[in-house]
Amino acid sequence: MYNVTLIPGDGIGPSVIDVAVKVLEATGIKFKWDKQLAGMAAVYEHDTPIPDAVLESIRKNKLVLKGPLTTPVGGGYRSVNVALRQEFQLYANLRPAVTFEGTISPFKNVDITLIRENTEGLYAGIEHDIVVDNEKIAAESIALITRKGSERICRFAFEHAKSHKRKKVTAVHKANIMKCTAGMFLEIAKEVAKDYPDVEFEDKIIDACAMQLVMSPQNYDVIVTTNLFGDILSDLTAGLIGGLGLTAGANIGKDVALFEAVHGSAPDIAGQNKANPIAVIKAGVMLLQHVGEFKAAKAIDKAIHEMVAEGKYVTPDINPKTKCGTREMGSELISRVKKAVAK
Ligand code: NAD
Repeated sequence: MYNVTLIPGDGIGPSVIDVAVKVLEATGIKFKWDKQLAGMAAVYEHDTPIPDAVLESIRKNKLVLKGPLTTPVGGGYRSVNVALRQEFQLYANLRPAVTFEGTISPFKNVDITLIRENTEGLYAGIEHDIVVDNEKIAAESIALITRKGSERICRFAFEHAKSHKRKKVTAVHKANIMKCTAGMFLEIAKEVAKDYPDVEFEDKIIDACAMQLVMSPQNYDVIVTTNLFGDILSDLTAGLIGGLGLTAGANIGKDVALFEAVHGSAPDIAGQNKANPIAVIKAGVMLLQHVGEFKAAKAIDKAIHEMVAEGKYVTPDINPKTKCGTREMGSELISRVKKAVAK
């Protein structure tokens, strides 16, 4: 029995999380879900986007399956996702992008694991307004990069490459311009690479990397990069394999691991039974792998890939002509997973 904190999230979150929970339970593995509100849903219910109860639950269970959380643009409360990553020091964000047969993506044979530093850099949101005579005349954002943070993420990337038999790690940066911050990240990546002579190492400047990822994604294997670059590039790699509806991420710290889709709360399709649940189900697959339930993880993953390749039980983001919705896709997958584990 696994005790897991379950955060349904905002927008399309509750509908895709509901499917993911049923698919995970279809493997026969027992879970005790501790359902907690966060984000906009918690603001409505408890007047705060991060109630203490959600933090206590995560501290206790150490495993989290999370739906997307809305972050107001511009004003309003700060990102709950960023706050959770910092509170639990979930320093490594692992976002695999592996080709699905049957999507509209023209890219084939993509198999990239993007590893993003998750707690530092520009994305950490250390910023303030500069106000003179009651007028905001400027704003300043601080990209704090530490030696410790850079070393632990680079080491995580090489350890991941080694344990998953990957051939190459590419460190992505902008060290030609941001010589202090990105420069230190690159210097540390080079130092860490020396400890892993069996893993090939290269570095790329972020802009060139973005172009090459679109021209020849097959040249990339494991990518390690800083927070904001990783955020942007992981949406790009999601696009290479058919979109955000298919891509999941793991946020790993020393004690806690949190699994989620790469996508957001998708307000444009919320409540329409159109959301693709695969990304969150794939997050569940990563959770199973994390706790060592490899057989169940493989059964779900295989069923997902077969179903997408067939193209019938898929949501409109994969096949615009389909009449299949979130719930129908979920029901079909649940029955396929049940059959697979019964064999
Ligand atoms: P988004 O990922 O929610 O949506 C981008 C586009 O992708 C939309 O057209 C949406 O319809 C589509 N899409 C996303 N998920 C899909 C799915 N499962 N199936 C089919 N189509 C899907 O990004 P956004 O619109 O920029 O952000 C909306 C909100 O989500 C914002 O408040 C943002 O801060 C938040 N967000 C949260 C997370 C998270 O919780 N980890 C991540 C990204 C964005």
